[in-house]
Amino acid sequence: MSTTVMHEMRRVRRDVVMRLLEVKRVESLTPKMVRVTLTGDALHGFESDAPDDHVKVFVPLPGHTHPTLPVMTADGPRFAEGVTPSPARDYTPRRYDAKANELDIDFVLHGDGPASTWAAQAEAGQWLGIGGPRGSRIVADDFDTYVLIGDETALPAIGRWLEELPKGARAITIVEIADEDERLPLHSKADVQRYWLHRNGEAPGTTTRLEDALRDIRFPEGDTFVWVGAESRTVRGIRLYLQQERAHNPDWIKASGYWKLWPEDEDE
Ligand SMILES: Cc1cc2nc3c(=O)[nH]c(=O)nc-3n(C[C@H](O)[C@H](O)[C@H](O)COP(=O)(O)OP(=O)(O)OC[C@H]3O[C@@H](n4cnc5c(N)ncnc54)[C@H](O)[C@@H]3O)c2cc1C
Repeated sequence: MSTTVMHEMRRVRRDVVMRLLEVKRVESLTPKMVRVTLTGDALHGFESDAPDDHVKVFVPLPGHTHPTLPVMTADGPRFAEGVTPSPARDYTPRRYDAKANELDIDFVLHGDGPASTWAAQAEAGQWLGIGGPRGSRIVADDFDTYVLIGDETALPAIGRWLEELPKGARAITIVEIADEDERLPLHSKADVQRYWLHRNGEAPGTTTRLEDALRDIRFPEGDTFVWVGAESRTVRGIRLYLQQERAHNPDWIKASGYWKLWPEDEDE
């Protein structure tokens, strides 16, 4: 008699906490990825339950040393009257070390944009704001295989996911990056099959490499959870392919647009 495996997903909700943090270290991971380590009293009690959690990062406005942070109210975050809000973008808490009181955030240096521009000039002693995570969706740990697909903006989530998988788990990663120099070591105790796809001069968010690679890969026997994080239209294409052509159980897919090549697109 076969056993039905439940693959129970859990949601954790948290009150959003706004934190003003100091940059402790900045490390260049690749030519286009920088790791910013944050610290400060406000970091105590930080919690992040899932590898694909995100925080809102508030970067100082040009000419300012500190970001302006909203105040949490019953109606959500609100800025004081007359205050110009700091730009806020979503980022993955890549590593939190409660003992050292450190939080790492890895920024892709893609060019123009308040967050990328800030990260390109970041140095110790500067200030950054974070809000959240406001919740997590915790994926069951009893899938036979985890397929993790994304571009460089998803590398922090994919890297964290692989580090958190136990020995005996199986994963396949399909990651699109600019070129060989952008590869990061992805450590894991799990059995991981890694596919690195290079854009070789093409612009981010303009290729079909991730979907093409996925089409060529047969999933191993058993139940497979598929996670996708990349440019929005790319993600939409992959989700449609999985559901319509591969008839993959929609409950076993989490696909999120991480950025928009065409910012005028409707929200996903
Ligand atoms: C849940 C979640 C987690 C994320 N985690 C991370 C993370 O850990 N690290 C990380 O680097 N990013 C991460 N991102 C993506 C990041 O939020 C976006 O790339 C964001 O748009 C960057 O903000 P910006 O101010 O630099 O540029 P924006 O002001 O948002 O955009 C300016 C211009 O840059 C373009 N652009 C934005 N991002 C990119 C890109 N990656 N490549 C090329 N062009 C781009 C836009 O199309 C726009 O034309 C995450 C996104 C989500 C939703």
